[in-house]
Amino acid sequence: MKVVTRFAPSPTGFLHVGGARTALFNLLYARHCGGSFHLRIEDTDPLRSKAASIDAILAGLNWLNILWNGDIIFQSKRYNRHIEVAYDLLKRGAAYYCYCTMQELEEMRVAAKNAGRPIGYDGRWRDRDPREAPQGVRPTIRLRVQREGETILDDLVQGRVTVMNKQLDDMILLRADATPTYMLSVVVDDHDMGVTHVIRGDDHLMNAFRQAQIYQAMGWERPLFAHIPLIHGPDGTKLSKRHGVLGVETYRKMGFLPEAVCNYLTRLGWSHGDMEIFTTEQAVTWFDVRDVGRSAARFDIAKLTAINAHYLRRKDDSHLMRLALPHIESLIGMSVERVGRCRLEAAMPSLKLRARTISELAKAALFYVQPRPIPLDEKACQQLASVGRAILTILAEHLAGSVRVWEAQSLEDEIRQLAIEQNLTLGALARPLRAALTGAVVSPPIFEVAQILGREESLARLYDVLA
Ligand code: GLU
Repeated sequence: MKVVTRFAPSPTGFLHVGGARTALFNLLYARHCGGSFHLRIEDTDPLRSKAASIDAILAGLNWLNILWNGDIIFQSKRYNRHIEVAYDLLKRGAAYYCYCTMQELEEMRVAAKNAGRPIGYDGRWRDRDPREAPQGVRPTIRLRVQREGETILDDLVQGRVTVMNKQLDDMILLRADATPTYMLSVVVDDHDMGVTHVIRGDDHLMNAFRQAQIYQAMGWERPLFAHIPLIHGPDGTKLSKRHGVLGVETYRKMGFLPEAVCNYLTRLGWSHGDMEIFTTEQAVTWFDVRDVGRSAARFDIAKLTAINAHYLRRKDDSHLMRLALPHIESLIGMSVERVGRCRLEAAMPSLKLRARTISELAKAALFYVQPRPIPLDEKACQQLASVGRAILTILAEHLAGSVRVWEAQSLEDEIRQLAIEQNLTLGALARPLRAALTGAVVSPPIFEVAQILGREESLARLYDVLA
């Protein structure tokens, strides 16, 4: 059997990390089985579906390299087919017209609530003669749900789940305005697309039982279901805005790398031994949806950040340069000129070892490209008060006077020698030097910084402070 999976987002917002993980699991499983993975946009609710949201979902998937097979399927374009199936069910006697008014439904709801019964349709038109239909009421079409027995679902993640059929009410398939409901559209589309495995959030578990009834009524084979637990926040409650950022796009803006986000999301609820870092190809080899855990995984930004740092260190310098430049330029509010770019290129091997995200890297790299006089932070100012300033004077004189070879190792040798002559430690000289050259008290190795800045710029920065 060729495995066919799908990701079926409703375009009502951005691509949520939970959605991205669902998409990823569908992709990994399909590729693991040599099958195909499809994207279906469930845009049947015209009030909630927004074009901008479709763009955001596509951008998020593309960024994460979660690529689907074939064309995107837009559910809204399949209306006629959904309606056709509703009438087919009617013809088979598996569905019926319901002429309840809004008011009647509301009364039914209140009565059920007061009696402590589950809120649902009571089936009053199930066996009633349509000739009794009231004038002027446009009917809905409802499924004639099997009332006897039970429906069993051998969920690939949740295990065997059983629901007594009498718990399911006769759901609407086609609304009074002739629009199909989600429950109907999903089943028709999954069937027509040949979906063999429905992998989605466990908030849809109960829907699967309702959907099973439609499959049965149409005589269609039911796909296998895998309902994966939702992602929780660090406090163990369902991941929500309270826990911080949810949109994949924001992680991109915050300077995370797509391969790190994919790696992290794949590990969220699934594992392969104690592997924490793996490529998508490895995940494809190892991933089986049956190995997804039944308890909710917790989203841990610290872990994602650590994984990101790992990928950042291994990333090609020129690629990092392309990613970091827009961040740097937006921080300094101007474009980085050729000289600045050369400095950044030279500094990248050191910068990437110290940053965990692209935005951290950009912030740490700022001093290389800021126009003089560079701003000094508070700690750097303290460093350059009284003694520090006196030391800087000596340093500036020495470096301007006798130092000829402006290269990290010889600069270090020179300053070490100067420290001995002045009866000071190397650190006592390096600290004010660092403060003046970088405007901070933490930076990449300071002699390397001096070399990258060059003689003229370095000396100018020292004199800026002394002026
Ligand atoms: N469109 C549904 C959602 O975004 C998913 C439906 C499904 O996967 O069956 O929650």
